[in-house]
Amino acid sequence: MSADTVEIPNTTPTISFEFFPPKDVQSEANLWKTIDELQQFKPDFVSITYGAGGGTRDRTVRIASEFIAKTGVQVIGHLTCVGSTRAELVEILGEYKDAGFHGLLALRGDPVGGPTAPWVTTPGGFDYADQLVELASEIGGFSIGVAAFPDVHPASDGNFMQDINVLLRKEALGATFAITQFVFDSGRYEALRNALDARGSKLSIYPGIMPVTSYPQIVRMLELSGGYMPKATRLRFARYQNDPASLKKLGIDVAVQVCEDVFALGAEGLHFYALNNAGPTSEIIKQLSMLNR
Ligand SMILES: Cc1cc2nc3c(=O)[nH]c(=O)nc-3n(C[C@H](O)[C@H](O)[C@H](O)COP(=O)(O)OP(=O)(O)OC[C@H]3O[C@@H](n4cnc5c(N)ncnc54)[C@H](O)[C@@H]3O)c2cc1C
Repeated sequence: MSADTVEIPNTTPTISFEFFPPKDVQSEANLWKTIDELQQFKPDFVSITYGAGGGTRDRTVRIASEFIAKTGVQVIGHLTCVGSTRAELVEILGEYKDAGFHGLLALRGDPVGGPTAPWVTTPGGFDYADQLVELASEIGGFSIGVAAFPDVHPASDGNFMQDINVLLRKEALGATFAITQFVFDSGRYEALRNALDARGSKLSIYPGIMPVTSYPQIVRMLELSGGYMPKATRLRFARYQNDPASLKKLGIDVAVQVCEDVFALGAEGLHFYALNNAGPTSEIIKQLSMLNR
């Protein structure tokens, strides 16, 4: 398939996995083991994260190239605007193209001080992700995705309609799909989907599914991302914070329920935050009869 004919297959629901570039030899061996195990589910695409500020640039590109060569599965490369000039972003997009990336997840990235810290403009760079969407559209050859926030972007002061307008603007500039922050309340996914539908959006919205395996980790992630977990679910996780086996099982049960709920609401795909670990994600998929994999 040439880069100009890139498209994400419309096998409803799609399955995709998110991986992050490993830091050392041992973690890399672990990632390839994870990839081997998850291949049995025939993912429609995988996405590889990018360290805001460019810290993982070389690793993101290398892991993706090797992954494409080994599996032939489509890769979406995340890219952030943090700390990069427009010219540098053009260069990185060239690297993504040469490496055979099929698509791009165009992100602003978070400021160094965290998601709600003041944004620091890089001279000659971009202030918002829509500028990166526009640039990638101009360059062409990528399927362009963006981030969506069913619980509202942490820097949007709770202004849900601002986020909807931002998504519509990105769509008008060339984005065709969005991957959401992790979803624990399918009602919020539904509200996002309905608000976009009501404005005539054709964006595919892939809900992010997080298999919880550690209580402190999920509490921290929720804090950082401004993500929402219903109180009753949170209390259930808290009860098992010192019982890893029960917590992991609960994490799988909760994720299976969210997958079933968003699927019933018409989600086009499920995007698993696999966190470079096959076990919990495999368990969830095995329990989802509608995936038929
Ligand atoms: C699926 C997913 C994957 C991610 N992967 C990574 C990753 O690989 N690396 C990483 O560092 N981070 C990653 N993140 C985190 C992400 O970078 C942060 O959540 C970041 O804040 C997302 O910004 P954005 O792309 O939505 O930015 P923007 O669209 O720029 O939005 C940022 C804020 O500005 C507002 N805004 C947007 N456009 C405008 C405009 N034109 N005028 C005025 N206001 C505007 C928005 O409403 C929002 O409040 C990921 C997040 C998700 C959901």
